Formats: sequence, structure tokens, C-alpha cells
Amino acid sequence: MQKRIAVIGGGIIGATAAFYLGYLDQTQSLSVTLFDDDLGQATKAASGIISPWLSKRRNKRWYTLAKEGASFYRKLVTDANLGTNVYQQTGTIVTRKDPNDLDSLFQEAEIKLRHTPAMRSVALLSSQDVGKRLPFLTNPPAGILVEGGAKIDGLRFVEALLDQAQKRHVEISRQRVFFDESGKLRTSKGLESFDKIIIATGAWMKGTLKPLNYLVKVRPQKGQLIDLTIKSKHYGSHLPVLMPESSSDIIPFEHDKLVVGATHENDGGFDLKPTSEARNRLLTNAKAFDQHLQMDQIDRVRVGTRAYTDDFAPFFGHLPDNPNILLGGGLGSSGLTTGPLIGYFLARAVVEGQLGVWDKYTKPISHYII
Ligand SMILES: Cc1cc2nc3c(=O)[nH]c(=O)nc-3n(C[C@H](O)[C@H](O)[C@H](O)COP(=O)(O)OP(=O)(O)OC[C@H]3O[C@@H](n4cnc5c(N)ncnc54)[C@H](O)[C@@H]3O)c2cc1C
Repeated sequence: MQKRIAVIGGGIIGATAAFYLGYLDQTQSLSVTLFDDDLGQATKAASGIISPWLSKRRNKRWYTLAKEGASFYRKLVTDANLGTNVYQQTGTIVTRKDPNDLDSLFQEAEIKLRHTPAMRSVALLSSQDVGKRLPFLTNPPAGILVEGGAKIDGLRFVEALLDQAQKRHVEISRQRVFFDESGKLRTSKGLESFDKIIIATGAWMKGTLKPLNYLVKVRPQKGQLIDLTIKSKHYGSHLPVLMPESSSDIIPFEHDKLVVGATHENDGGFDLKPTSEARNRLLTNAKAFDQHLQMDQIDRVRVGTRAYTDDFAPFFGHLPDNPNILLGGGLGSSGLTTGPLIGYFLARAVVEGQLGVWDKYTKPISHYII
């Protein structure tokens, strides 16, 4: 008899888990349903940058997860046959305001490159060099090019993976589901039992686990970014991403689309309303590098809800006293980088019937869930 598996949440963790549940379960011993209500999903609102290597963060577990997460895309792109309209390695340019800081960062980048093939190569670029790589900028800063840096389109990513999951007999159910106290799920069909459940509900995980009397220590954070249309012969999706220090990232996408983001609004919670303040601030930040940008080029403001933990680190594993309920969350602002690997680990644990050893990536779940 097939085992019944539920995945709750169809963001980057849930979509990757659902894809790999279908992909790895070659004997079709699992019957998998993914439930998602698509409310404020962070993945679809995200800027899309995959470039963790030169981050200022010094959390070793996070770095191990993010570094391996960035490398993992190579496997994922092949397994899921993702096109360049979903994931593209165009390089990222990281800047520092102080030239001395830039030099020391470059030295750090060269050392990291020796142990990190996914970075491909690094180069110290003058402002003129950056201008050649990003010719639409009027005021390019000096920076470090990491050739292995990439961008993904979160919306297309989720759509592509769920589409492939469906072809492998995963059912996608667009609804909000709830635990009852016994651990069953309340769905539109009534109370349903599952052999294993993967919870990937992002910023909403506290509410998901409340009926089971767990306290999940995640808080929501509002993030906004702007999509602009740039009609310029100097523009194109093959261009690298600019990551200016303490400012907004500038990300060229296809069809003349430029993304600028994102805000980090701790008091915004689950609010999904775009604000003119964010719109103005993001445009002003981007105009420091491209003075031609105008308000009327903004097509829309995208809003999503990130999930943060007290140590800003993601977590994954199983519930402290229930190995049949797996979960992953608290991805913060680098979840596009870490999320797919977490989804893959969780799917493998279900298919192989045993949990992995994950302590090099995450503190014990009991640190985040009590
Ligand atoms: C503006 C912005 C920019 C970002 N930029 C980047 C970036 O450049 N690089 C990077 O690496 N990361 C970035 N991130 C972070 C990244 O997007 C998130 O960390 C990641 O997408 C979170 O994925 P998730 O699967 O945990 O959650 P989500 O993508 O939020 O998905 C959770 C899903 O679960 C659903 N759900 C919740 N409860 C239930 C329920 N009871 N029943 C059914 N469905 C439910 C939700 O509606 C949602 O669809 C950004 C985030 C934002 C908001």
C-alpha cells in the first residue's frame, strides 16, 4: 500500500521537496499531496540572488548550508531541466564603499575560491570595468565579480518544479490546511491522516504548529521590491547582478525587466500592501548608480513575507518528539540559496525512511521549536 505524504507550503522548500518526492520515488510507493494557499509567499516576491560567498555574516552553519545550497543548483537545474529563464549564472558584483575593505574582501574571495568551485572565478573590477559589464549604469562603483553568482526567478522556479512534480503524480492542492490536536490535517475533504508530513509554511509556521502545542520561534518580516522596465540597447538578462554595500541590489532580468530590492521591514509583519515610501527609497537607492531611472518606469511593487529566527539562521529536521513530521524554515533573506537543498534533504529523508545527519547545517530543532 502507498504511504500518504503531505507537504504543507509551496514556496521554495515545499516545491523542491514535492519535486524530489516525485523524482526519487521511482517505485511509486508514495502518494504525495502538496497544499499551498499562496498568501504572501516569500519565494515569488524575492529578488532572486544566489551569491552567499562574500556575505558579512559569520555564522558557520549558515555558511555551510548557503555554500552547499548555491552549489546544489547545478544538480537541481539538471534534474528538473530548468531553463535560463528560471536560473541563470550571470555573475554577481559585490561592492564596498571603502577601497581598503574592497581589497580585503578580494583577498577573502581569492581564498574562498580555492575551496569553492561554484564561485568559478573572482576578479577585482574598477568602476570603469563595472561600467563595461553593466553598460546601462551612469555611475558604476568598483567591485568584485564572482562569476558563479546567479539569479533565479522565484515565481517561475516554483511553477516549473510543481509542474514537474505533477507529471510525477504529485497532487497540488490550492488550499490552506490546519492541524487538529491529534496530528491529522483538516483539508477541504475533512480530517485526513498522513504517514509523513513536511511543513514548509515559511513565516506562517508558528500558526501551523500551534494546534499541536508547539511554539515556533519565527517572526515575519515584510520585504518589498520594485520591477522596472528599461528600454535600452545596453540592457539584457545576461548582465550580472550589482550588490552595492548597504544599499539595494540591482538585478537585470529578461524582457527589459530590472528588479531593485529589497526592503527589510521588521514592523511590517504580514502586511502585504505596497508603500510609496518603499517605492521612493528603492528608486533613490538605484538612481545613485543609474541617474536615468524614473518613477514611471516602475511597473509594480512586489511584497512578500520572510521568516526570521532569533539567530537569523534557518532550521530543518523533525519535530522534537515526532519523527513523522519534518519541517524546514526560518530562511530569512537568503532562502532562495538555502531552501532547495533543505527541500531535497527532507524529501530524501521521506523516500529513504531515515533522517540525515544535519548538525553541520543547523542547530537542533529544539532551539527553534519548544
Ligand atoms: C522581497 C524579498 C527579497 C528576497 N530576496 C532574496 C534573494 O535575493 N536571495 C535569496 O536567497 N533569498 C531572498 N529572499 C528570501 C527568500 O525569498 C525566502 O527566504 C524563501 O523564499 C522562503 O521560502 P519558504 O519556502 O520557506 O517560504 P515561502 O516562500 O513563504 O512559502 C511558504 C508557503 O506556505 C504557504 N502556507 C503557509 N501556511 C499554510 C497552510 N496552513 N496551508 C497551506 N499553505 C500554507 C504560504 O502561503 C506560502 O505560499 C527574499 C525575500 C523577500 C520577501
